[in-house]
Amino acid sequence: MTTATSAPTTVGRFTATSDAFATFADARHFIGGAWRDPISSKATLEVHNPRFGKAMARVHLGGADDVDAAVKAGTAAQHEWGEWPIRDRAHVLYRLRELMVKNIDELSWLVSHENGKIFSEARAEVEKGIECVEYGCSLPNIAAGNQLEVSRGVACEVVYAPLGVVAGVTPFNFPLMVPLWMLPQALVGGNAFVMKASERVPLSTMRLAEMLKEAGLPAGVFNLVQGGREVVEALCDHPQVKAFGFVGSTKVAKSVYGRASMAGKRALCLGGAKNHLFVVPDADVQVTAENVVASFTGCAGQRCMAASVLLAIGDVDHILKAVRDRAAKMVAGKDMGPVTTQAARERINGYIDAAEKAGARIVLDGRKASAEAGGYWVGPTIIDGCTADMPAAREEIFGPVLSVVRVPTLEKAFEIENANPYASSVYTTSGDVARRVMARVEAGMCGVNIGVPVPREPFGFGGWNDSCFGAGNITGWDGYRFWTRQRKITSKWALQRDQNWMS
Ligand code: NAD
Repeated sequence: MTTATSAPTTVGRFTATSDAFATFADARHFIGGAWRDPISSKATLEVHNPRFGKAMARVHLGGADDVDAAVKAGTAAQHEWGEWPIRDRAHVLYRLRELMVKNIDELSWLVSHENGKIFSEARAEVEKGIECVEYGCSLPNIAAGNQLEVSRGVACEVVYAPLGVVAGVTPFNFPLMVPLWMLPQALVGGNAFVMKASERVPLSTMRLAEMLKEAGLPAGVFNLVQGGREVVEALCDHPQVKAFGFVGSTKVAKSVYGRASMAGKRALCLGGAKNHLFVVPDADVQVTAENVVASFTGCAGQRCMAASVLLAIGDVDHILKAVRDRAAKMVAGKDMGPVTTQAARERINGYIDAAEKAGARIVLDGRKASAEAGGYWVGPTIIDGCTADMPAAREEIFGPVLSVVRVPTLEKAFEIENANPYASSVYTTSGDVARRVMARVEAGMCGVNIGVPVPREPFGFGGWNDSCFGAGNITGWDGYRFWTRQRKITSKWALQRDQNWMS
């Protein structure tokens, strides 16, 4: 590994305390406990603050040689780390938690600036990240294996052993929380980690790397490699990477799942979603309007579980009016942030244009949203009268857009939802309707009167069908199982007290 570097020894704090534009240190690799420039790649990319559409930092994009350097650093550190008692490993997370709590505003502003979400949303993201760290802190109390005397004098024992060096790749929409879906379980499980954050939002994970170091994590146990597709593919292919976690769009999740699996590693790859909301006439108007609007406009609609299609069952015009009235009051810049890039803005507007052209009605139009300071804005948008086969009703738009599909009956709504491989929620005051919907939908994460039905710790996060390639959930106990392997030890200490086939 080359050591010649212009990388600083620390990235320093993010000093912004408002939305006002601020710059941050360039994103570099964090390998073996130090900041490093890429070995051979000279490519860089601007990290834009989407609120201004202006670069707040640059990211130095790495390649396969940097992945190899990070894996080597992980390999060198992992053995000793894996021998630390689990409680001592968890204590590093206790200290990380303290640092995150102490610096919660700094982290929230950093998330807000690099991603664009408003401060309160960014703070909620950091709080949820802290909750994930707390789950990791609790593992010593719940991760005991099993032991049983299976025959006279013969005991079988199961222990959770580290895999070695493992890797994770994360999306742009939750720069801090999604990395923390993976890290606590993987680290407490005794692994070394190589992470590749989204090249659009690499800054929050840099602060995380520094906090982990300050919390006492030995050098090389956590490594960051900056980059894009080339780095991801190198992680999939690297023979010393034993497990591969991914969160991002369905297309990429499916392809990297195949690639990592073909390379012989265990993989769990979470993809996109398109949350279908069943709204029936008996739904509470206020609860529904508040929830639906918060769900489709929150984080500018850039949440995998954001409300996306509203299945309006029967006569629910009074509810749709309340949804529209409430959404119309949302002020871009204050109540909601921008979308991630100009390309995303154009893609989202393209879906709205196409639906309008195909005969749907734009009852709330966010296409003209803008701000004096620039940035990538789309206001809340409601498209009524979509048909189930329109792209706006089938594909993940990933913006503040609600596509309304009108259906006469619950049965027809099931037909549409079941043909769509993603999440689901129902709005009703009837227990019977709620139970029927929950029993019939083809979705792994479902809500009753909840717009963003995401399980919180200790429950595992993970969808079904095209939202998840691989088995299990990425958070909670499933996460611990994913990042560890079970060693089965059969032992006998007494001298032949009994003869049987195990003797
Ligand atoms: P993305 O798939 O474009 O990128 C995710 C990661 O993959 C990034 O780190 C990126 O650098 C890398 N990548 C991009 N293209 C690649 C390629 N061709 N080959 C290999 N790697 C590649 O996703 P995004 O735009 O950053 O994030 C938004 C998507 O993530 C949405 O679809 C959203 O639904 C999904 N998401 C899903 C969950 C979930 O839990 N299922 C959570 C958050 C986000």
